[in-house]
Amino acid sequence: MECGGQRFRKESDYGVRKRCFRKESDYGVRKRCFRKDSLARLPKNGMIERRAQRAPLAKALKYFRKERSMKIVVLDGYTLNPGDLSWEGLSALGDLTVYDRTPYDQVVERLKGADIALTNKTILDKAVLEQSPNLKFISVLATGYDVVDVKTARERGIVVSNVPTYGTLSVSQMVFAHLLNLTQHVAEHAQGVAQGRWLASPDWCYWEYPLIELAGLTMGIIGFGRIGRTTAKIAKAFEMRVIAYDAYIKDSGDPEIEMVSLDRIFRESDVISLHCPLTPETYNLVNAERLKMMKPTAFLINTSRGAVVNNADLAEALNRGIIAGAGLDVLEVEPPAADNPLLTAKNCYITPHISWATRSARARLMQATVENVAAFLAGKPQNVVN
Ligand code: NAD
Repeated sequence: MECGGQRFRKESDYGVRKRCFRKESDYGVRKRCFRKDSLARLPKNGMIERRAQRAPLAKALKYFRKERSMKIVVLDGYTLNPGDLSWEGLSALGDLTVYDRTPYDQVVERLKGADIALTNKTILDKAVLEQSPNLKFISVLATGYDVVDVKTARERGIVVSNVPTYGTLSVSQMVFAHLLNLTQHVAEHAQGVAQGRWLASPDWCYWEYPLIELAGLTMGIIGFGRIGRTTAKIAKAFEMRVIAYDAYIKDSGDPEIEMVSLDRIFRESDVISLHCPLTPETYNLVNAERLKMMKPTAFLINTSRGAVVNNADLAEALNRGIIAGAGLDVLEVEPPAADNPLLTAKNCYITPHISWATRSARARLMQATVENVAAFLAGKPQNVVN
């Protein structure tokens, strides 16, 4: 295998370690290999020294000079960093191996001897955790941490952290990308113009879908946490009325936003936007029974987790005109099976789970993950979810 790609230098007890990543394409592995180098080649004012001046990384690096290097394994790093970000921050903290993707049957093998696992969507269930005796810390490369069996992790003394805030603005932005698509169909109208339909129009303008103003409509938010609140703020800027339901929050903190029952959300909303995590309580929370409570003109937007919505029930509701449209960034199974009925449902627009994936949000996610690992190594884990 060829060595190449990104190269790193790291100061260590043994002088300079030169790193290179090896990369295989399919279910690829980017593996770091070390070569001892002479102290003379130590960079005078290198990245590590600069970074060491900053807490909490500085504390962790100090720790590392005393303790053995921990083995850090990224199980599915490609979507976070397809090449436009850097793994340097993490590689400075330990013996880092980055896999682009890891099929479930290879997880245990790849976590052999690992102290720290980083996962985005690779499932770390009871069976995996029980076969990974060295594991001490899992940092989820996402906000939703439903891929980790946090209960088993807690029982085994494994700390689990997530990254709570990196994507809030990007996800809320996507809510309105979907909503404005449903109300104005910009891309479809632009496509019609490109296909010559404006040239052929007898009038100076034409539209092929009903055009809908958001002002005065009711936005019902389910899950009034960080993304829910940011979405509410944007909805208010559009002069929408906002109501919200949250299983744990009873006061919105905003006199203009009423906290209501789930039933009222489904009955009164012109737009429902889902922002709760996927838990046993929220699994298929949107189902045939609740969809029937919605207005026939209403839209459903889901940027939370696919399984919060029963996909088959939603497809049927769309095809039968029980609701008017849906904008979905997430599906029950991802990527979806070819027979997922939502792929062909009426007025259903699906994006491939990209709300989180703006470069700005991914850069924040990378930085926050470095800080999560550094904080754990410094003995003060942060963003702990178990
Ligand atoms: P958050 O923890 O700040 O907010 C979640 C809210 O949901 C909390 O207020 C919580 O009390 C509430 N909640 C929990 N259980 C509930 C229930 N049974 N019914 C109603 N509300 C309930 O999280 P956040 O940062 O706002 O993110 C919300 C979700 O968005 C995440 O869990 C994740 O699944 C999803 N997400 C998706 C993307 C994407 O790319 N599509 C990116 C980031 C996050």
